[in-house]
Amino acid sequence: MNERAAAAPRRVVSLPLIEAASAHSGTRRRTTGRSDAIGAPAHEPPTHSPGHRHRDDRRLIDSHGRIITDLRLSITDRCNFRCVYCMEPEVRFAPATALLTPDELVLAATACVALGIDRIRLTGGEPTLHPDLPRLIESIAALGIRDLSITTNGSLASRNSMRRWMDAGLRRITFSLDAVHADAFTRMTRSPTPVEAVIDAIEAAIELGLAPVKVNAVILRGRNEDQVAPLASLARRLGFEMRYIEYMPLDSGRHWTPEHLVPAEEILALAAQAGELVPLGRDARSSTSESFRFAGAAAPGARIGVIAPVTRPFCGACSRLRITADGKVRPCLFSLREFDLRDALRDPSLRAAGASTHRRMIEDLILDAVWTKQAGHGITAEGFRQPARPMSSIGG
Ligand code: SF4
Repeated sequence: MNERAAAAPRRVVSLPLIEAASAHSGTRRRTTGRSDAIGAPAHEPPTHSPGHRHRDDRRLIDSHGRIITDLRLSITDRCNFRCVYCMEPEVRFAPATALLTPDELVLAATACVALGIDRIRLTGGEPTLHPDLPRLIESIAALGIRDLSITTNGSLASRNSMRRWMDAGLRRITFSLDAVHADAFTRMTRSPTPVEAVIDAIEAAIELGLAPVKVNAVILRGRNEDQVAPLASLARRLGFEMRYIEYMPLDSGRHWTPEHLVPAEEILALAAQAGELVPLGRDARSSTSESFRFAGAAAPGARIGVIAPVTRPFCGACSRLRITADGKVRPCLFSLREFDLRDALRDPSLRAAGASTHRRMIEDLILDAVWTKQAGHGITAEGFRQPARPMSSIGG
């Protein structure tokens, strides 16, 4: 958290989060105040604060009083996998000219850091497909943020590549691995990459010190719930945090139904087949994952986590913001509304106004977008609508 954000808690943290902000912003919002999204009219963005007062502080705070410090920056929509919960085999990617250039990505990140972002995760599609990845890592690391990480399917994460990313400034890595057994892995990813290649990359990342190494798996009923225990055993043996994610309605094929969901409770019962689990809670109030350690012997760093957006939503303390590879600001993963940053980044008249004026306008656009961040995803709320943009072009 940067100094200005650190100076802010007095005003925000003492009351139930959502109520406090309404008082602060002068706009009354009838919301639950609970840390879940179910009661809140999820997709009803607030009107702008009077006179854009939310811009005054120059820090990212939404109309619910949540301070946004984490940016998920998608650097490409391309991917070499076709995971069943994400992307259809016949997916069409955006034209290359529609995607932000490395300089535009860095300018967007710079504006966000100026507004208090201090953790950035590079996502995709598959970010390791980006031809300028080391240079991007270096430029973003040079912004002096607390944490720079990447989410990858691991297929291109060789030991040498990871060393190059670390030399450029990468601090952590999160892998996606939805199965241990080869046939299940191929069924989930629809990719020719052997599962062993990803497991080898995970082992190499641990040895290289890209710690803590986290591994995410999306669990779908009838597809890979039989992989939960083997994944937990792998984590226990190798020493990484295995985090299971409840399936969310963000797939491009729109196949999601509640029947496909394996709830957190059931996932944890399956993971406990690999060993008794001891709850550790959330690392931070805004963490998406509830963590557990093994009661018995396990490799250092071995943990189990569950990310349960559907049955145990965590929106009340959300600190995340997303920027898509084609330059759209998404205040929430489930936003129905996006804010176009690309045009502002490329606008010749704005650029002609000078670098600092141009950047200030970029910042104002991001501040306005964050102010409209909805209370929560509303997945289980009456009238929920799945966003038009699928996960594959939003980024994890
Ligand atoms: S991004 Fe949206 S859905 Fe995700 S935790 Fe934040 S508010 Fe909830």
